[in-house]
Amino acid sequence: MKIYDTLSREKKEFIPLEGRRVKLFVCGPTVYDYSHIGHARTYVFFDTMASYLRYRGYHVFYLQNITDIDDKIINRGRNEGRDPLDISMEYTIRYFEDMASLRIDSVNIYAPATYYMDRIIDQILRLEKMGFAYETEDGVYFNVLMFKDYGKLSHQSLDTIRAGARVEVNENKRHPADFALWKKRKEGEPYWESPWGDGRPGWHIEDTAITEYYFGPQYDIHGGGSDLIFPHHECEIAQMESVSGKKPMVNYWMHTGLLTIKQERMGKSMGNVINIRDILEKFEPELLRFFLLSSHYRSPVDFSYEKMEEIRQSWEKIVIAFRKISKMEKESNGRFINEIRRFKGMLIDSMDDDFNTPEAISSIQAFVNFVNKNMEEMGGEDIIESIKFFNEIDSIFKIIPPERVAEEKIIDILLKVRQMAREKKMYDISDYIREKLRENNINIEDIQEGQIWYKK
Ligand SMILES: [Zn+2]
Repeated sequence: MKIYDTLSREKKEFIPLEGRRVKLFVCGPTVYDYSHIGHARTYVFFDTMASYLRYRGYHVFYLQNITDIDDKIINRGRNEGRDPLDISMEYTIRYFEDMASLRIDSVNIYAPATYYMDRIIDQILRLEKMGFAYETEDGVYFNVLMFKDYGKLSHQSLDTIRAGARVEVNENKRHPADFALWKKRKEGEPYWESPWGDGRPGWHIEDTAITEYYFGPQYDIHGGGSDLIFPHHECEIAQMESVSGKKPMVNYWMHTGLLTIKQERMGKSMGNVINIRDILEKFEPELLRFFLLSSHYRSPVDFSYEKMEEIRQSWEKIVIAFRKISKMEKESNGRFINEIRRFKGMLIDSMDDDFNTPEAISSIQAFVNFVNKNMEEMGGEDIIESIKFFNEIDSIFKIIPPERVAEEKIIDILLKVRQMAREKKMYDISDYIREKLRENNINIEDIQEGQIWYKK
């Protein structure tokens, strides 16, 4: 299996640090608003990746942080006259709801930063003692000149960063690229006690404090959106490799590409932000996953509702083929087993090559065409093998919706049919319906007014 690593800029053979165990960390959201389609892209991809690694026999520990204290959260609290921690609690819940709607279930632990305050303070303290950090009037800063590798992930030097725009201006800092590990308390802000007085952590330190706690100083994969490479991930490397003295902090840096809306950058200032829940009002979550996974995770993706409509037909073709074959029952041998396994091999080859989901989806489509063409001639073994493959596909990609049957409606229809049968004295039919429902734990009782049913 090969994975593209942003740091070395090449596809590398995937070798975990400890046998089949994989330690995976992905940057979670800053919870000050609903999650949008850009979040969906990143989290659907890493969910698919983690599910695939598990399918291939790896034991994945998937960890995600939740940034529940940050300037954006404080600003929103101020604007709405609410406690910022109330805001972050609310949007943490909304985030979990959105992830559940998207069928994202591969994360082992979600770690909100405020739950790890002692770990964060401890890491800053060690950095300070080792001379990597210094205290100023308004906080504690990391001294980038002490870390000669600063810039290695984003492939830039300190000189170009000095000239660049994306660094916070602050006259207390020794170097413009120095970044805050701890921010001292300001009026009206939430705060925690620390050796530097009341305050709150900087953004970058929460990730390394959390990963050090669960994984230690070195682990396998760190993921996130490509907008996080600089300065966020660059700062994480500086913190962790300085405090541990061990390199590299992670072996594979993975970043998802940019998502645009009708070819424009998405942003609040552009007024074109599309939230996950807006899309799911119009489209099935599985169709959204299919859309997102139809592009390679590192390529840019352009989203529009029109494009979702355009791909609907090819998505439905997969779903319908699965529905059809699941209902087939035969007891004969199979003669297509090898062909079916060949499609599975193609899918694995694509996914082993840096998780090439568009290519994997092409092999699923080729498999669906094959099933449609040969369904009638298939024997029992072929059918079982095909259903098994469809189920494996869904366990990784989650693109096949479970049959969301309106159960009560169907039962009411059956009861009506039963009543019609009884009126015509076709008791074999009415008894059949009663028996079959009972087998499924649904009991019918005949009362004077008609029939009632209940689950048992
Ligand atoms: Zn992060």
